[in-house]
Amino acid sequence: MEFTHVPHPSPTPDDVREARIADPGFGTVFTDHMVTIDYDEARGGWQTPVLGPREAIPLDPAASVLHYAQEIFEGMKAFTHAEGGLALFRPEANAARFNASARRMAMPEIPEELFLASVRKIVLKDAAWMPQIEGGSLYIRPFMFASEAFLGVRPAKQYKFVVILCSSGNYFKGGVNPVKIWVSQDYVRAAPGGTGAAKTGGNYAASLVPQAEAIAHGCDQVVFLDAVERKWVEELGGMNLFFVRADGSVITPPLTGTILPGITRDSLIAMLHEEGYEVREEPYSIAQWREEAESGDLLETLACGTAAVVTPVGTVASPAGEFSIGSGGIGQMAQKMREKLVGLQHGKVEDTHGWVTRI
Ligand SMILES: *Cc1c(COP(=O)(O)O)cnc(C)c1O
Repeated sequence: MEFTHVPHPSPTPDDVREARIADPGFGTVFTDHMVTIDYDEARGGWQTPVLGPREAIPLDPAASVLHYAQEIFEGMKAFTHAEGGLALFRPEANAARFNASARRMAMPEIPEELFLASVRKIVLKDAAWMPQIEGGSLYIRPFMFASEAFLGVRPAKQYKFVVILCSSGNYFKGGVNPVKIWVSQDYVRAAPGGTGAAKTGGNYAASLVPQAEAIAHGCDQVVFLDAVERKWVEELGGMNLFFVRADGSVITPPLTGTILPGITRDSLIAMLHEEGYEVREEPYSIAQWREEAESGDLLETLACGTAAVVTPVGTVASPAGEFSIGSGGIGQMAQKMREKLVGLQHGKVEDTHGWVTRI
């Protein structure tokens, strides 16, 4: 599909941009452009894509996203590639997951090629916003929401698909530090048959109170248990978990519908297999976590996701008390997997899986 290009009336001056991307942090330094594609059932579905200036989106107060939360998103990154230009990491997997989320939220799927073309075009357009710093990337946020003005409860007939970018620095300032996590007692993230496997804003809205509780208990993040037995460890608010054991096995909770199928998770499973580890996708209980951490049968716990890559979990806290994992510092596996994944993304480690798309 041909894109309509709308010129920016006043792009950010070079010196202002350079100042903003020198230390961008995460999630606040936005680039100059955006891609917008309208969907209208009455007009045959997806309309002409537009690459234009980043600007506010006019919205009717009855737009159904504001009332019933039909909304999905993706989170991905563009990197500087060692052999020149930029690269994306497994963008087809994001496109496929976006459509899986769309199906769950009764939203229209977008042709994968259109999703990927939108991402490529905006990244190339705003490539100058790539921070030239260690750990720098362009964070890509594709999202879709119901824009139809209608207060009845049914799937909307009009949507907007949008892609924006932000300059992103190292997620963890001052290097990788183990996180301390709080085991939520009163709240769950997802229930069987719910929306836990979809990347939809409502899951995040529901996680904010338990996340605040975690902070109030001196922790960085909240970890959720399963909704039925309150026994099985599922995931953090936005990261999947791996348990690295002394016998050489690695366990990660299975994808049974309540866990978001992370692309970092999937990549780590493949990389661990390659390294000769036995990776088992099976339930892991909170009791087992404590016992194995205390006995030394558990060496490390890793949290993983696009934003933070691979991060060690140092301490787990709950009303029953705290326990630490390994030395409480960054373990060998966390270090090795993090370096390998970051190396792959930047074209410094051989891409045997065809995961890196240069653009
Ligand atoms: C996005 C997300 C992840 C991580 O997925 P990646 O594809 O690895 O970035 C994990 N858990 C939740 C709840 C998420 O929304």
